[in-house]
Amino acid sequence: MNLLLELLRTPSPAWSESATRAIIQREVGGDVDAAGNLWVEVGDSRTLFLSHMDAVHNDRPVSALVREDGMIALDPSCGQTALGGDDRCGIRVMVEMIRNRIPGLYLFTTAEEIGCQGMHKAASSVPDCIDQAISFDRRGTGSVITSMMEGPCCSDAFATELCRRLGEGFMPDPTGSVTDSAVLHDRLVNYTNISVGYVHEHSPDEMVDSAFLLNTLIPAVLRVDWESLPSDPKPECDPGYWEPAGLGVPVSGMEDDTVYQIGMFFESRPHRRFSGSEVSEIVEMFAEGWSLSDVLEMYPA
Ligand SMILES: [Zn+2]
Repeated sequence: MNLLLELLRTPSPAWSESATRAIIQREVGGDVDAAGNLWVEVGDSRTLFLSHMDAVHNDRPVSALVREDGMIALDPSCGQTALGGDDRCGIRVMVEMIRNRIPGLYLFTTAEEIGCQGMHKAASSVPDCIDQAISFDRRGTGSVITSMMEGPCCSDAFATELCRRLGEGFMPDPTGSVTDSAVLHDRLVNYTNISVGYVHEHSPDEMVDSAFLLNTLIPAVLRVDWESLPSDPKPECDPGYWEPAGLGVPVSGMEDDTVYQIGMFFESRPHRRFSGSEVSEIVEMFAEGWSLSDVLEMYPA
């Protein structure tokens, strides 16, 4: 709990992650690359584990309050934009896995929230022996994500077996959107994103379920044998179609960067329901070159 709170109370806007990185390095060491990403290698492994060090923070202090039921919330008077459980929860999980010497290549990235920029710079340094990736960067307490912006990200066999190993409460969930592991879509046999216990992310109402994170998720990930997960490959994707939160978004023929902007938009509005015609309108705006901040302004949270 103390390390989780220390992470939550450290402001970490994109490209200003050094204080967060220093905490992680104090706990588990590791090497920093030119983009500020932190790498830790444990044993020989085919698995890349990912969490991101930036949060949708401003540079004000983060005041986090722990409730009696274990939920951690933002003190609204501190003027911070969000608690930052997204993705301090993922960092907390990976620190514990490294301490327990779970084999894997661990990568703590920079600037995920502004388009997975750290990961894009790290991608060429991921060795060829890596064929599966696990992001710890999903809201809620029960998702193993099976589809992201690029299409299906893991096979049924992989998702079903991983849910079984994680234990009760975990279910395959096809409503993923954007996170670092998707940057490696073309190279990986399977990748996914797992719930780490935050809700209402990217807002002052964000909360972290510390009881789930510390007492359920962390013991579960320490039990899982990641190396022997099924290697049945993810289904061939339809690159022209993507379903954030169950809505079809036709992205055929668009520049990668435009598709990422659309992804970031839906990531930023996780709790708003969009009609089919709104989705078409939004896609149209990005196709016409509107900036992310302008479109966000048109569709407030
Ligand atoms: Zn995140």
